[in-house]
Amino acid sequence: MSEKYCSMCFRSESAAGKMMELPGNLCVCQDCLQKTMDTMSSFTMPGFQGMDVKGQVDEENTSDEAENKEVNSEEKSDEKTSSNNSNNQNNPFGGFPNVSFMNMADFQNLLGGGRSRVKKKKQVPEEERVPLIDIKDIPEPHKLKEMLDEYVVGQEQAKRIVSVGVYNHYKRVAAEGMKRDQFEDGLYDVEIEKSNMLMIGPTGCGKTYLVKTLAKLLNVPLAIADATSLTEAGYIGDDIESVVSKLLAAADNDVEKAETGIIYIDEIDKLAKKKDAHTRDINGESVQQGMLKLLEGADVEVPVGSNSKNAMVPLETINTNNILFICGGAFPDLDEIIKQRLRKQTSIGFNAELRDKFDKRKDILSEVKTEDIKKYGLIPEFIGRLPVVYTMEGLTKDMLVKILKEPKNALVKQYQKLLSMDEVKLEFDDDALEVIAEKAYEKDTGARALRSIVEELMLDIMYEIPKDKNIGRVVITKDYIEGTGGPVIEMRTL
Ligand code: ADP
Repeated sequence: MSEKYCSMCFRSESAAGKMMELPGNLCVCQDCLQKTMDTMSSFTMPGFQGMDVKGQVDEENTSDEAENKEVNSEEKSDEKTSSNNSNNQNNPFGGFPNVSFMNMADFQNLLGGGRSRVKKKKQVPEEERVPLIDIKDIPEPHKLKEMLDEYVVGQEQAKRIVSVGVYNHYKRVAAEGMKRDQFEDGLYDVEIEKSNMLMIGPTGCGKTYLVKTLAKLLNVPLAIADATSLTEAGYIGDDIESVVSKLLAAADNDVEKAETGIIYIDEIDKLAKKKDAHTRDINGESVQQGMLKLLEGADVEVPVGSNSKNAMVPLETINTNNILFICGGAFPDLDEIIKQRLRKQTSIGFNAELRDKFDKRKDILSEVKTEDIKKYGLIPEFIGRLPVVYTMEGLTKDMLVKILKEPKNALVKQYQKLLSMDEVKLEFDDDALEVIAEKAYEKDTGARALRSIVEELMLDIMYEIPKDKNIGRVVITKDYIEGTGGPVIEMRTL
């Protein structure tokens, strides 16, 4: 089949994404379509009054107020269409007799990216309440922290905050299934707010790893999504609710299980508002807007067993009220914003000498305040829905050495296990581990580099050792890692 080309920008379908087919064998890509719509909507011409080319934008809720409007959105859109139709009859667009009413939402549905209905969750009446989880199954913060310690090196403060946040979150879930007489006077009606989290830390410092470990320890399903792949509904890319369908898949399509799971959205910093907002921002700010409801708690219709919605795929309704959302990002240059703020504070008065100190502080990120994140480009409504904010430290060489040997699944332990199956004892000299850590540190990708370095280094060992059944012990030395010598090999004593 020959490829389609956009009649406006002449890009091919493979470059510009799915095309909209128009009568007369014309095709238009989504970008051009959107630009046309945006341009048309910016005209205020006589006869265009009442024309709503931005139907989809209206439907989206851009702020809290919008929530209230939403209840009636269906009726409203009906009204809108009929009023537009009547407008059409009375006035077929004045100076543009051939232009008929177009609604972006219709196009999006045609393209298969139709927006599912997101409804705000109502409170469950007391008589319908059933226990959702048993809080006794959730380890107390100090226990959870101890469990995390076995896997995650350092990040003490982050582990404490996460442990408390998660415990509170699941208490809130448990409370939703409890009855009035289970609470002391007056407490039943107190609503506990969601403790979604925002995690800030350099790449490779264990953000994803911390969340994965947490989900494993709590035995809850986890979905990990990358914010950069998310786009506003109807555009090429995954629409925002796809994260919920991922969670459903992680819960083996068990809706109840998915509803108490965790969703981790990585690279959230990439959703920051674009500074030059001339074009429509389909990946950044509007994704933040689109996520507001999910973060807070809403019913979302998601396809079962598929990422895209179409007529063939059954839909399930998932309520996100009890799903814990954790967003993470490296937020490069956030430190500059924090320093600027601190400098401004200290330049007034006698604290001027403190100013230089900020420049040298390595843990400056831990001073972060919501105003800094706002300045970075996350919108206040979005930040407001992530009340638990914490930072992770960049890994030091010492931490990298510990990561190599101490956690339950440490790389060194993994290789020891592999070779133990050949009945060979594997050891690493301490200075050998330090050299590995140093090499990884230079790459500036946190602990990520460790694995590739160790894999490369162990390849020959893993290949050669099983050849000789007499080998009983191998010691990896600093010389071996630096390429100036070999490992120490000891034969089995008979
Ligand atoms: P990011 O912060 O970029 O999400 P990851 O969590 O993906 O980084 O870390 C990459 C890998 O490095 C993890 O799979 C884990 O094995 C290891 N790692 C990173 N930080 C730590 C840590 N603090 N303790 C133990 N392992 C870690």
